[in-house]
Amino acid sequence: MNREAVAEGLYERVKACDLCPLARTRTHAVPGEGPLTAEVMFIGEAPGMNEDRQGRPFVGQAGQFLNELRAAAGLTREGVYICNVLKCRPPNNRDPLPGEIDACRDYLDEQIGLIDPLLIVTLGRFSMARWFPGQSISRIHGKVREIDGRMVAPMYHPAAALHQQSLRETIIHDFEGLPEIIERSRAGRARAAAAAEAFAPATQSTGATSSQMRLFE
Ligand code: URA
Repeated sequence: MNREAVAEGLYERVKACDLCPLARTRTHAVPGEGPLTAEVMFIGEAPGMNEDRQGRPFVGQAGQFLNELRAAAGLTREGVYICNVLKCRPPNNRDPLPGEIDACRDYLDEQIGLIDPLLIVTLGRFSMARWFPGQSISRIHGKVREIDGRMVAPMYHPAAALHQQSLRETIIHDFEGLPEIIERSRAGRARAAAAAEAFAPATQSTGATSSQMRLFE
């Protein structure tokens, strides 16, 4: 099966999902969108009211600011894949519950495996927690780490700037650092592929598998 067909199958399963009670209160599930070849994957928290109505991620006010942030990082909406930790809206936009995050976990795993992005940008503390458990967003925002061969950049959620104007410049500044990170990621992958080829010319490269975590400031 090709990747598009796999993605379609995944989206259909998300739209029909009833693994948690949010299935009963949602209007539309929001699987995510973007090219499967995207180098950059944004992972937000959960759909809000507008996303729930349209079945698309980040189409409300936070999405408008995310568009600005993307532009500041030189990325087009078509060049990135956008999804959320939760695929259904929690009532009144309350925080996701642990059981809901668990129920959605396999969907997100499948998306990451399918897209295999160079860089994951976590938006807010719920997506950050998966790669940086127990850490505080105010301490680590904008500081990319390599985790299991992939760069992960923890960012404030764009909605944070809507509630706290003073964070706006900080968030923009963090996003402006993404082009350099993407360049480094590309170079890192190219090196890993070349090394894999040199050591095992007859087998196909599987990319970097470093389990080391490195902190770049
Ligand atoms: N906030 C999110 O985390 N995700 C969306 O899709 C919209 C708002």
